[in-house]
Amino acid sequence: MRLSRYFLPVLKETPSEAQIVSHRLMLRAGMIKQSSAGIYSWLPLGFKVLKKIETIVHGEQMRAGHIPMLMPTLQSADLWKESGRYDDYGKEMLRISDRHGRDMLYGPTNEELITDIFRSHVNSYKDLPLTLYHIQWKFRDEVRPRFGVMRGREFYMKDGYNFDLSKEDALHAYNRHLVSYLRSYERMGLQAIPMRADGGPIGGDYTHEFLVLADTGESEVFYDSDVTDLSFGDREIDYDSVEQCQGVLEEFTTKYARTDETHEEALFNEIPEERRRTARGIEVGQIFYFGTKYSDAMGAKVQGPDGKPTPVHMGSHGIGVSRLLGAIIEASHDDKGIIWPEGVTPFHCGIVNLKQGDDEADAACNQIYAAMTAAGLEPLYDDRKERAGGKFATMDLIGLPWRITVGPRGLKNGVVELTSRRTGESVELSPEEAVKKVA
Ligand code: ATP
Ligand code: MG
Ligand code: MG
Ligand code: MG
Repeated sequence: MRLSRYFLPVLKETPSEAQIVSHRLMLRAGMIKQSSAGIYSWLPLGFKVLKKIETIVHGEQMRAGHIPMLMPTLQSADLWKESGRYDDYGKEMLRISDRHGRDMLYGPTNEELITDIFRSHVNSYKDLPLTLYHIQWKFRDEVRPRFGVMRGREFYMKDGYNFDLSKEDALHAYNRHLVSYLRSYERMGLQAIPMRADGGPIGGDYTHEFLVLADTGESEVFYDSDVTDLSFGDREIDYDSVEQCQGVLEEFTTKYARTDETHEEALFNEIPEERRRTARGIEVGQIFYFGTKYSDAMGAKVQGPDGKPTPVHMGSHGIGVSRLLGAIIEASHDDKGIIWPEGVTPFHCGIVNLKQGDDEADAACNQIYAAMTAAGLEPLYDDRKERAGGKFATMDLIGLPWRITVGPRGLKNGVVELTSRRTGESVELSPEEAVKKVA
């Protein structure tokens, strides 16, 4: 992409309404524009990162054997009346009525809809296990939408639902989700720690939230510092193996790590004092096994091996796709701007032409651009007739991992400058070597 042809409305001023750094940087970098409280337009740069995150989530869900689909944003209230949640959900649910006076709602989550799909089409235990998911916009009329995309009213969420014959099978699905979530966050350059969460009115031990540690997080968390040493890495995993998935769950959830809702001071105090940590965190996902709550209420049964109708065991599992942009920026920025992890960066490399209009500099930039594109990389070429300082500031703000600076002086010696956004270090290389280093 050439910057002269792109739409990147960066702001010079720091918007005063933004209280936290990720919100400020997303506005300044021209990634989002508020349309009304908690509702945003995703401008091209923000949209690009959103899609990168979505692609990682899809990839890891499918790797785990979960099946993508798409359900609508608008739902009929009937199913929610059936489950009993139409009244329970309260003011967070945006209720709408259509021209015929029928009660509709903008889905805050999809347990009812998916359970209805399931009961309409699945009759036998032989069709289990089944995990369906989608990535779709949700609406929750939050009392206090704030912090930009972190707590929006309209937000993008991956939500998946498992259907299993037994509690055992459903817990295997739970563990698969835990593993696939760990992998997803790591690919985004994030550490998200699974923490024991509160099962709410349904109760039970089977829910974990994934938290990114950040001072601006809305949750208070308590953990053993050993949990921050854990990482899944690039190890192989067989998602069909109950033992392997259970092993990962145990590895990642045995040490103390809890949100304030489940925190137990006495247990916490058993950790050696130097390892006790109290901090704040951003909830970027949650997994939940809830048994037969919805299948009982909505009659989602299959014929079991014994021929008897059996309510299915279910769980639901969510990732805050749009919130993740904010969480990643909270975890990765400096005073000049965003520092995108390689896995989610909107462009792989910026190309800065120090002397636009100079034949040699223009030709060198075009050549680098072509070489990168041929290597499957996406460069962003700042081909505007602007001062170098302004170009550097824009590149630093939008946070691409690499910048290649091209100017007549370097070209005389056959070199360009390659700069790492994260370390700030620069090296002089031939244009070919610079492209190779980025790839
Ligand atoms: P929170 O505690 O932050 O209100 P939640 O527990 O109500 O979140 P879930 O129902 O668990 O949210 O939804 C799954 C994921 O969707 C959350 O882990 C979070 O990452 C994301 N999410 C929830 N509410 C919002 C929101 N208002 N704006 C952006 N993302 C959200
Ligand atoms: Mg909430
Ligand atoms: Mg929560
Ligand atoms: Mg939650």
